[in-house]
Amino acid sequence: MDHATESDSRKLLGRLRDALAGDSAGQERLDRVTTIIADAMGVEVCSIYLFRDAETLELCATEGLLPDSVHKTRMRIGEGLVGRVARDKRPLNTADAPAERGFRYMPETGEERYSSFLGVPIQRLGETMGVLVVQSKEKRAYSDDEIYGMEVVAMVLAEMTELGAFVGEGAALAPLHRRAVTFRGGIGQEGSAMGHVWLHEPRVVVTNPIADDPHEELRRLDEAIDSLRASVDELLATADGADKDQMQVLEAYRMFANSRGWRRRMEEDIARGLSAAAAVEKEQTATRARMAQVPDPYLRERLHDLDDVSNRLLRILTGQGSETGAEMPDDPILVASNIGPGELLEYGRRQLRAVVLEEGSIASHAAIVARAWAIPLIVHAGPIASEALNGDLVLVDGEHGVVHLRPEASVIDSFKDKLAMEAAQQERYVSLRDKPAESTDGALVKLSMNAGLMADLPSLDTSGADGVGLFRTELQFLTQSRVPRRDELAQQYSRVLDRAADKEVVFRTLDIGSDKVLPYMKSQDEPNPALGWRAIRVGLDKPGVMRMQLQALIRAAAGRNLSVMFPFIAQLQEFRDARALLYREVEHERRLGHRLPREIKVGAMLETPSMAFAPAQFFDEADFISIGGNDLKQFFFAADRENERVRRRYDTLNVSFLNLIEMINRRCVEAGTPVSFCGEDAGRPIEALVFAALGLRSLSMRPASIGPVKHLIRRVDLGALRHVIDDARASGAQSVRPAVVEFLYRPQTSS
Ligand code: PEP
Ligand code: MG
Repeated sequence: MDHATESDSRKLLGRLRDALAGDSAGQERLDRVTTIIADAMGVEVCSIYLFRDAETLELCATEGLLPDSVHKTRMRIGEGLVGRVARDKRPLNTADAPAERGFRYMPETGEERYSSFLGVPIQRLGETMGVLVVQSKEKRAYSDDEIYGMEVVAMVLAEMTELGAFVGEGAALAPLHRRAVTFRGGIGQEGSAMGHVWLHEPRVVVTNPIADDPHEELRRLDEAIDSLRASVDELLATADGADKDQMQVLEAYRMFANSRGWRRRMEEDIARGLSAAAAVEKEQTATRARMAQVPDPYLRERLHDLDDVSNRLLRILTGQGSETGAEMPDDPILVASNIGPGELLEYGRRQLRAVVLEEGSIASHAAIVARAWAIPLIVHAGPIASEALNGDLVLVDGEHGVVHLRPEASVIDSFKDKLAMEAAQQERYVSLRDKPAESTDGALVKLSMNAGLMADLPSLDTSGADGVGLFRTELQFLTQSRVPRRDELAQQYSRVLDRAADKEVVFRTLDIGSDKVLPYMKSQDEPNPALGWRAIRVGLDKPGVMRMQLQALIRAAAGRNLSVMFPFIAQLQEFRDARALLYREVEHERRLGHRLPREIKVGAMLETPSMAFAPAQFFDEADFISIGGNDLKQFFFAADRENERVRRRYDTLNVSFLNLIEMINRRCVEAGTPVSFCGEDAGRPIEALVFAALGLRSLSMRPASIGPVKHLIRRVDLGALRHVIDDARASGAQSVRPAVVEFLYRPQTSS
C-alpha cells in the first residue's frame, strides 16, 4: 500500500470525524457521511443500510439514489446484493451488478443507471449492524485497496452506531441496546427467574476509533503488545506444568502475541487512520467472522484463542478491565458468552438468580454446577452477551428455553403472574415438608435428593428429602485444576455425612469421560464419547484415582454407614470387579489401623439396557440398584441426551420404556434388592407418579422437585392409576401420557 493511499484514507477518516463531531441529529450525520464517502471514493452513489429489526435492512441515507427511497427501501437478510453482504458478512464487489446472481432491482431508488457495486458489512465483534454500499455508472471492479479502505470506514461507522451517533427517528435509527429482544436457547436447567443483567465480561467500548497521529497510535500498540507478552510469559511461568490443556492455550496466546501477520494488519489499519484500539477491534471482528465460518473444530479453537488474546489487548489499550466499578444488582442474572465451572462457583449460589450463556452446552461443567445449584440455565442463547447491558431487566423462562431481555410491560406482567403462581405453589410445598409422600391408597414413596456440592446439603432440611439418593462426586474433580488430594476428599465427604446426620447418602464414584472431561485428564478424542471410555471403565482400567477416592470415602465414614455405588456398569463382572476393589481398600485401611465404616452397602447404577437383562446374580449381589434414567433412556432409544434435535423425541412414558422400567423393578423386588430411580425424570411430577404406579418406591431428584412430586403423589390413588396405565398399554398406545393426564383431570377422591 503506498503512502498516498494511506494519507487519502487518513484524510477521509479526518473528514468523517469532523462530520460526526458536534451535536447534529443522527440523520444529518448519516447524510453527511454518505456525501463525504462518495466524494472521497470518486463514485456517484454511497448508501448506508441499517437493520430495523433482526431480519430487515432499511436504506437510511444515500448520496446518489433517489432521496424519496430513504427509509422506504427495505430488504430482508439474504435478499438482493445488500442482503447478501449482511448475510455472508463479507464484501461483495462487482463491475456489473445487474448481472450478479441474486441481484434485485429496486425501482424506487433509480439505481438502474449504476453498474458497479461494492458493499461491505458494517460490523463489530461478530454483530452485523448494516451495510455500506458504493455504486458507479462506470463498469469497474474496485481494487483490493479500495475494499480495504471501505472496510476501515465501515468499522468506524459500526463503532459510531454502537456509540449512538446515528440515533434518530424510526426503527432503523432507534438507539441500540434499548429494544426488547427475545432469545431462544437450550435448557440447561429448568426454572423461572426475573432479575437484572450482570455481565461476566463487561463490554469494551472504543470511544475514539479515528486518530490523526499514526506514530502515537503505533507506539501505543507496541506498548500494549509488550505488556500482553509479558503477562502471557508470566502466566506461563506460574502455570502448573501438569495442566497440559492450560499450557496449550497459553502457548497459543504467546504465538499470537508474537504473530507478525496479526501485528502487520493492525499496523496497516493504524496507517489508514484508525486508533490502536479500533485496529485491534477491526481484526477481532474479522476473526469472529471467520470463526462463524470455519467448520474445523481445531481451527475454530485457535480462532477462539486469538479472540481471547484480542480481548486482553483491547482491555490493556482502553484501560477497561473486568473491574468496571459497576455494582452487582441484588438480583443478578449472569450473562456470558461462556464460563468455566471454577469462575461460576466464585459467584456463589446465593447470589445468582439464573445464568444465560451464548455458548455452553447442556452437559458443560458450568451446566453441572448450575444444575447442582438448581438455578435456571439457558445455553446457546444467541448473541445476548453483546446485546445486553449491565443492569438490563431480564426474564428467564427455563421451562421453554426463552430469555426476554428488556421485555415489554405486558410480558413483564404475565411473567410476574407466573412467578407469583409458582411462589404460591412453593408455599404449599413447604407445608408438606414433614408429611410423607403417601398416595391416597396408602403407598409410601421415598423421595431423596440428588446433590453434588456441599452447598446443596441445606436443601436436605428445606426440601424435606429423605436422604441423598445420588451424590455426584465428579463436581469436586471438575472444578479444580488438579486431582484433589485424598485428605481433601475425605474431609469433604465427612462434612457431607455430618450434615446429613442420620439420613442416608449414596455416593457415586467418579463418573467422568464422555462429556465430563477433567481439566487435567488427557482427552481421549473418541469417535463416540458417550459410548466410550468413561465412568467405571476408566475406574477399572486405571484404578489409581478410584482407589484414592474409595479410601477417602472409607475414612470419611469412620464408624458410620457408607453407601457407595458404581456408575455405568454394563456387565456383571464390572460390578464384581469394582466391589472387589472397594473391599481391597477396606482391607488396606483396616491394616493401616483406620476406623472402618459401621456398615457398607455397595450398589450399581443401572444405566445401560444390558443390565436390565443381566443374570439374576447381579440383582442378588448388589446391595441396591439405582436406575440412571438419563443414560438408560438415551441408550434405549438410541437418542443422544445432549442433542437438542432428538433428546425430546421419545417420551419417557413411551410404553416400551415403561415396560423396561417395570421389568427392572420386578427383578429387583424378586431379588429383595432395594431399587430407586435417580435420573431427571424422577423430578417430573407426572413421570414420577407413573414410576410409582409401576411399583417403584424410591425416587431421587433435584431438591426443588420434591415438593411438586410429593404434592401430586398425595392426591392420587396409585392403584387406580395403575389400571389406567395397564389399559393404555393394552390398547396399543405409544405413550401412556394422554391417558394419565386425562385421569389426573378427573376429580380425585382425596383422603
Ligand atoms: C443418569 O444417567 O440418569 C444419572 C443420574 O447420571 P448422570 O446424569 O450423572 O449421567
Ligand atoms: Mg448417568
